[in-house]
Amino acid sequence: MPIYEYVCLECNIKFDALRSMSDADAPIHCENCDSDHTSRAISLFAAHSEGRVVAGAGSACSACTSSNCSSCEI
Ligand SMILES: [Zn+2]
Repeated sequence: MPIYEYVCLECNIKFDALRSMSDADAPIHCENCDSDHTSRAISLFAAHSEGRVVAGAGSACSACTSSNCSSCEI
């Protein structure tokens, strides 16, 4: 099961949840304040699996031409 990252819009913390893909966008309660005012964050993991063209195996990201991504945000 993939891990999804959520952000609470009330207390602004991020938390991870292990959920099946069909539950990924279902409402989830904040583990800190129990609010359901939360939103799914696009995690690095999700970005990789959705755009696997980009990442390769630890090589350069699409924003750089060298094999060193140390100056990139990604
Ligand atoms: Zn919260």
